[in-house]
Amino acid sequence: MSRVDLHLHSAASDGRFSPMAVVRQAAELGLRVIAITDHDSVDGVVPALAAAKALPGLKVIPGVEISTDVPQGEVHILGYFIDYNNRELQANLEGLRNSRLKRAQGMIVRLKELGVHIDWERVQQIAGSGSVGRPHIAQAMLEKGYITSLKEAFTNYIERGGPAYVEREKMTPAAAVELVLRARGLPVFAHPLTINNVETMVVELKAAGLVGIEAYYYGYTDDEITKLVRLAEKHGLIATGGSDYHGLEVGSGGIMGGVDVPLASAECLIALAEPRTPELASK
Ligand SMILES: [Zn+2]
Ligand SMILES: [Zn+2]
Repeated sequence: MSRVDLHLHSAASDGRFSPMAVVRQAAELGLRVIAITDHDSVDGVVPALAAAKALPGLKVIPGVEISTDVPQGEVHILGYFIDYNNRELQANLEGLRNSRLKRAQGMIVRLKELGVHIDWERVQQIAGSGSVGRPHIAQAMLEKGYITSLKEAFTNYIERGGPAYVEREKMTPAAAVELVLRARGLPVFAHPLTINNVETMVVELKAAGLVGIEAYYYGYTDDEITKLVRLAEKHGLIATGGSDYHGLEVGSGGIMGGVDVPLASAECLIALAEPRTPELASK
């Protein structure tokens, strides 16, 4: 069991548990440093930090995970120690969340044109307090019997390039890095193996101000981790890590604390953010 998990989702985005519950679980597991990194939202940060006040052995880093797109797929940028009250950051995150809503509504219209009638209200209900996404649309299709498996919704309708697929308004990875920096945060390239040409992206993002890459990640092999750690060293970046815990079943993240992230990696990040407060040393 690791002592560090720098990639956790709460119900502020698509995680299952409240920020408070996530923090408590982390303390029960004996974790020492965690980060709350919800998709395009910092709403979980304040309740998480409040919950952590009663838990002196646990440090909670305020974070965010910003979704961006490149032609080959999605790139996610983690922002650690962000100023979660920063107006520009909040406005941009809201824009990203709205673009998700607009996109989901657009897909429902396309589906209707294809003879698949699902209700926007139902899709929102399924998504609950989290951000509406394609899995929720697929679930609504399944309920109405248009498909027999969630996978079928993707292959026949809503996968990238599918007949009901709608592209989201985009933010580039470099723009997300810059946004995190302007909110006084530390930008880190999340689960880099979602794209093919990782090093090219690392070079581009480093030029924009990237400070780390998420090398220790749920599902990555020892080989992949070693390569990513070397890549981080080569470019003067911190190798960070986390489980991408969502509190859900397989397929969306690992178990909390399940990825062996070195404590030193969290300490490097903390030292960069708080050069004058060696907090961990006193704990
Ligand atoms: Zn991600
Ligand atoms: Zn994530």
